[in-house]
Amino acid sequence: MTKSAIVVGAGIVGASTAWHLAQRGYQVTLLERDAVDAVADSASGGNAGLLSIGHFPLTRPGASWRGLRWMFSQTAPLYIRPRFDRELISWLWNFHLHCTQRHLDRSMAVLGEMGFKSLAVLELMMAEAHIECDYKRDGWLDVVLKPENLAVAEAEARSLEQYGYKWERLEKEQLLARDACFTPEVSGAIHMKDSAHCAPHLLIAGIVRALPQRGVSVLGRSEVRALKLARSGRVTGVQLVSGEEFHADVVVLTAGIWSDAIAKLADVSIPMQAARGYHLQFAYPSTDAPALPSTGMVLHESFVAVTPMQTATGQELRIAGTLEIGPVGAPWMHERVAMLLKGGNAYLKGLDALKPIREWAGYRPCTSDGLPAVGGLKKRPGLFVATGHAMMGMTLGPVTGKALAEMIDDEAPCFDCRMLDPERFS
Ligand SMILES: Cc1cc2nc3c(=O)[nH]c(=O)nc-3n(C[C@H](O)[C@H](O)[C@H](O)COP(=O)(O)OP(=O)(O)OC[C@H]3O[C@@H](n4cnc5c(N)ncnc54)[C@H](O)[C@@H]3O)c2cc1C
Repeated sequence: MTKSAIVVGAGIVGASTAWHLAQRGYQVTLLERDAVDAVADSASGGNAGLLSIGHFPLTRPGASWRGLRWMFSQTAPLYIRPRFDRELISWLWNFHLHCTQRHLDRSMAVLGEMGFKSLAVLELMMAEAHIECDYKRDGWLDVVLKPENLAVAEAEARSLEQYGYKWERLEKEQLLARDACFTPEVSGAIHMKDSAHCAPHLLIAGIVRALPQRGVSVLGRSEVRALKLARSGRVTGVQLVSGEEFHADVVVLTAGIWSDAIAKLADVSIPMQAARGYHLQFAYPSTDAPALPSTGMVLHESFVAVTPMQTATGQELRIAGTLEIGPVGAPWMHERVAMLLKGGNAYLKGLDALKPIREWAGYRPCTSDGLPAVGGLKKRPGLFVATGHAMMGMTLGPVTGKALAEMIDDEAPCFDCRMLDPERFS
């Protein structure tokens, strides 16, 4: 008998899960709160587009103390809106407990395996569905301004070698010769060679567009407001805001930062904080525009990501970043949007001469231990979750979808998911 699944949320994680469940013969309904055409406006469309395997999680030794210090500066790279909120306090305490070298080593082993496999999964999906999203597997640059930080960046890259990452140090002259976009103030860069970059809005739109041909029923403007429970406690379906009900063998929550609120309807908690980030998008239409960076990069001191992307209307550049932990829906902090340009100017020539064609904000779903939550809930048979990918969701979403589909289908997942058990927080 054909098995059925409801997937809630059409970001990269939900779309990838729907894809792989359909491939396994499931009858899949993908429910998305927004219009289907608007999926490119989600975090999965507005992110920096760096498919950066080898990116550290937030939980690094010293990060909690740094975060506390930055709490009082609205223009620090990581800003926590001070407020009295039990969930925030408990999250911060747990976050602090996980900022250890031991946890980082264990996390990188999992994230490394996921990262390499995720790009392989994504490349297959793109080839099968002929998705054009300016995908280039040419690595990313960690571009450094202060000479003393180049050694720090090198030590970080060296620490990743054990997980199979390849890297190269580029001295200032090599960097300037490679790309005309840099100012003479840069000191050099580390080239992390295994990663890729793309136009993420084209990628997520392409995947969602390809789903109906794979048998997935994609329903936009379908906001889930309740989970249907059987007497046994099993989750059997969902109810939309419109009142319409859908029933299936399994329900999968892939609603990004909103996943916890939906899980709570079944008395399950996936504690996460929303880390808002912003992007500015620039067009490169004229010959007097400054030189376009040839690859994706992160500006080491300002934590700003810069990604060139070819779209249907021409060449564009996205500058994205800043982490602002606060309530979902709070007014934009325009000083933080301005930080993106300020953070980029010292590294890249002529940025301030450009006018953004788009300003955007979105939320990274962040768990307190820096790792995603992926798997089934023993407490609620029939309910599966995949969320909490924080700054790495675009990179790790494809393999997450594949592994979750395998788990749902009672097969061993394609990577070791034990550290990602969604019930580890309870
Ligand atoms: C500024 C910024 C830069 C980033 N840069 C990168 C990067 O370079 N590389 C990288 O790997 N990651 C990056 N990320 C992180 C990445 O974007 C996220 O981790 C990822 O997009 C999360 O995907 P998701 O599918 O879990 O959630 P989302 O993309 O948020 O999708 C969730 C979907 O669920 C829907 N939904 C919510 N509630 C309901 C409901 N009740 N019913 C139905 N649908 C619902 C939403 O409308 C949404 O479409 C960045 C994030 C930000 C903000």
